[in-house]
Amino acid sequence: METNTTCPYCGVGCGVVAQHDAGRGDTLAGVTGDKTHPANEGRLCVKGSALAQTLGHEGRLTHPRIDGVTVSWETALSAVASRLGSIRAQHGGGAIAGYLSGQLLTEDYYIANKFFKGFVGTPHVDTNSRLCMASAVAGYKRAFGADAVPCCYEDLETAELVVLTGSNLAWNHPVLYQRLRAAKSRNPLMRIVVIDPRVTDTCELADLFLQIAPGSDIALFNGLLSYMAGKGRLDRDFIEHHTEGFDDALAAAQQEVPDIATAAERCGVDAERLETFYYWFATQLHVVTLYSQGINQSSGGTDRVNAIINAHLAGGSIGLPGAGPFSITGQPNAMGGREVGGLANQLAAHMDYHTPGALDRVTRFWTTPNLVPALPDGPGHKALALVEAIERGEVQALWIMATNPLVSLPDANRVRAAIQKCPLVIVSDCVARNDTLAYADIVLPASGWAEKDGTVTNSERRISRQRGILPPPGEARHDWWIIREVARHMGFGEAFDYQGVHEIFDEHARLSGFENDPQATPDTGYRLFDISGLAGMDRARYDALAPIQWPVNADAPRGTARLFERARFMTPNGRARLIAVASSPAIQQPDGEARLVLNTGRIRDQWHTMTRTARAPRLMHHRSEPFIEVHPEDARHASVQNGQIARLHNTLGEYLGRVRVTTAQRRGELFIPIHWNDQFAHQARASALIAAVCDPLSGQPESKQGRVALSPITAQ
Ligand code: SF4
Repeated sequence: METNTTCPYCGVGCGVVAQHDAGRGDTLAGVTGDKTHPANEGRLCVKGSALAQTLGHEGRLTHPRIDGVTVSWETALSAVASRLGSIRAQHGGGAIAGYLSGQLLTEDYYIANKFFKGFVGTPHVDTNSRLCMASAVAGYKRAFGADAVPCCYEDLETAELVVLTGSNLAWNHPVLYQRLRAAKSRNPLMRIVVIDPRVTDTCELADLFLQIAPGSDIALFNGLLSYMAGKGRLDRDFIEHHTEGFDDALAAAQQEVPDIATAAERCGVDAERLETFYYWFATQLHVVTLYSQGINQSSGGTDRVNAIINAHLAGGSIGLPGAGPFSITGQPNAMGGREVGGLANQLAAHMDYHTPGALDRVTRFWTTPNLVPALPDGPGHKALALVEAIERGEVQALWIMATNPLVSLPDANRVRAAIQKCPLVIVSDCVARNDTLAYADIVLPASGWAEKDGTVTNSERRISRQRGILPPPGEARHDWWIIREVARHMGFGEAFDYQGVHEIFDEHARLSGFENDPQATPDTGYRLFDISGLAGMDRARYDALAPIQWPVNADAPRGTARLFERARFMTPNGRARLIAVASSPAIQQPDGEARLVLNTGRIRDQWHTMTRTARAPRLMHHRSEPFIEVHPEDARHASVQNGQIARLHNTLGEYLGRVRVTTAQRRGELFIPIHWNDQFAHQARASALIAAVCDPLSGQPESKQGRVALSPITAQ
């Protein structure tokens, strides 16, 4: 048999055809790319094509546990409900927090958000997506008045100029890279510019590569805005009729970077090459700038995003085929989390707490004959602030779903100490071993990919079905089922009376539509995220749902590929905003011996903390162990040799990895992978070296500009 489903790894959201024996076995016969899925048109990358090898019951959580002892579901659910209930009664709902994940399906995410914010009454619900796309969200909101990704994948193929900045597309979104490569071979006039502090495999496609200094992105794009103004290459008509804030943004840009020589000096690149980029951008309307963690994971990430968007607004290159600022998400359902309110500053249905009428609408929507939700009236703690709240004892219970914060959050040793101190830690996950599970009081076994049933939304706003094919092992249950049952045990059953995921999706879709809400105010009526066109599906229609891009409503029943085609934005006056931005130094600065700049990131064949990809032997061949990439001069200075195990350290922690001496690194900068952890190697958590500092607007950690010392292992 074959079932169409969706890859559970990156934000490209590729369609997968899974081959299996109906209802039998614990694995799949194989997977292939789904030729009918618009995201990948049959392509898969090496991780996606190895999916079948990551399955099987070995290494899975199969039974609930309390304090390490296997218990029945009834015992576990009663314990979760009574312990959460007593903390809530004693300290209030705000003493309870949820930490969610871009691995959750939209239905899981929706019901978790409703449970915590609506009925436990805590605003403290955040997600590991805070670590990958929060700055992109904040930047879009400032510019467009809503978290609105304007582009679609086709725009990458139809653009005449594609700028890849802070994105190693070849490794991290490989199928998009394949699509771009194919488009370039079809269109010899297409130009590709890669901007990155490291030489990566993505550079193979580049007509122009700018190896900029870390943190110089704003100087680079402010320089571009200055250049466009100086050369008379602005779209004056678009600026005048569709934007505001241009004069201030240009003044800030010209003050920081008045000319190309200054820009080149600030970015550490050759002025002639920089001018080539500026000329190409300024003379081309069909430009897509694609960015990812290299832009977002910074203490000035939101400003960097807006510097990019400013250039697009100034040139009018948005809302057209092959044009726009395009943020690509890291996780399979980071976008779904944004839709349902999975971030601490959101409410539900893509609304913020301050969206006029939103609190009232959600309260009315979630009210049942006998239950009125106890919604908090303002945002909760973002991920790093959540850890601090646990340290202060304000948060007494933490429920972690489908993520491994002991490895992924910065200052990992401090996170470990905080979680150890938290009076109640509940972890629901599908794997039996991860670093976080060791600190859980209550462990709840969840279903995994190929078992879970629901939807995910990819980076181009495309909703796709992920279909349950295999039965979960042992007593493992779906996340939505676990949350529903805890809600029932806490007395909220009437509001969680779902018989299946299709009913949760239907509620989510209905909440997104304002057409039939007589009490909606005009403000709440003019909204971006609207999938009311998908409401009312019965199980059969939901099962057959084909991939579709939101908004989906009466005006756009077949979905919407591209936003802002009429140049009307989501701000009150319909104009996009240019934001005056200026470069700011990284928060992490040289500290004693720790002077080298540390860049962290993914590698081609692994996913996050390797709990799944490490099960596929062929995925271990590409890079089989933790490593440190270092420039030859820095290696010589630190007396480390290529192939030797070396040590990175600072006041926060240490990391051991094999040295790879390479001129792909700029001098004074290092790169290490984020994947390894205590399950797979000794002292190999990259996050142990990164300080818990973040962008004040987005809360996204500064994960690409740590500071470390490098020394040979024998020097210890
Ligand atoms: Fe999966 Fe991303 Fe690879 Fe597509 S590109 S197969 S979504 S990991």
